[in-house]
Amino acid sequence: MPDFTREAYRTLLQTLLARGYRVRRFQEAEPARPDLILRHDIDLSPEAALPIARIEAELGLRAVYFFLLDSPIYAPDAPESRSVYRELVAAGHEIGLHFDAARHPDDVAVLDREAAEACDRLAGLTGREVETISFHRPARALLGRSAAIGGRLHTYQPRFFSSMDYCSDSRGRWRYGHPCSRASVTAGRALQLLTHPIWWAHDDAGDREAAIGRLIAAKGKDIAAAVAETISGYDPVSGRIRDETAVTDA
Ligand SMILES: [Zn+2]
Repeated sequence: MPDFTREAYRTLLQTLLARGYRVRRFQEAEPARPDLILRHDIDLSPEAALPIARIEAELGLRAVYFFLLDSPIYAPDAPESRSVYRELVAAGHEIGLHFDAARHPDDVAVLDREAAEACDRLAGLTGREVETISFHRPARALLGRSAAIGGRLHTYQPRFFSSMDYCSDSRGRWRYGHPCSRASVTAGRALQLLTHPIWWAHDDAGDREAAIGRLIAAKGKDIAAAVAETISGYDPVSGRIRDETAVTDA
């Protein structure tokens, strides 16, 4: 069965559940337990969240969807984005802030204040308090910081990043191996699983250029440069992705 399809995502979740995993929120997960945090960073397409959120809801699971407020690719206050928030909230999913630290000074006090303000802005759009922050691009000042930021939990806290295992489909690849083959999963320890719905929602089966091409066809060529900033190795002229370049967050 090809990976990076809706069916593959459903199977991944069912496999982890069959191995004894229980889906927990960041607030509840315990490193030594078979707890699974379902995290989604929305870097490119709010709409891609919905097919994935529906699969989770069908399985009775609750995930956390992190949205950017300052994206050059999507508008967080657009009617399409708001209807995504509405459906996610109605299904019981949590909405968190995906905070682009590279757009803010690398200073903890400033980041703290600006993150808190951004959480309030996002809460104004979704009608729900923001409880958790994920970072879009590394903030050196925050790496390994155990304290909250902006009064919220954040994904760089050692509890979520080193005490628990962490596995991501960044750039549409399992760079550190498939989640089910990780030592933590064999041992039944907690896993923070970061997936980006764009790679799964349209059954592209690992054809990342098809996924990006569809997005650019829908939103216009003027987002191509911003996509290249998010997906390292993506060439906005040829539409190709080169894998040998340095890897960034998304
Ligand atoms: Zn990101």
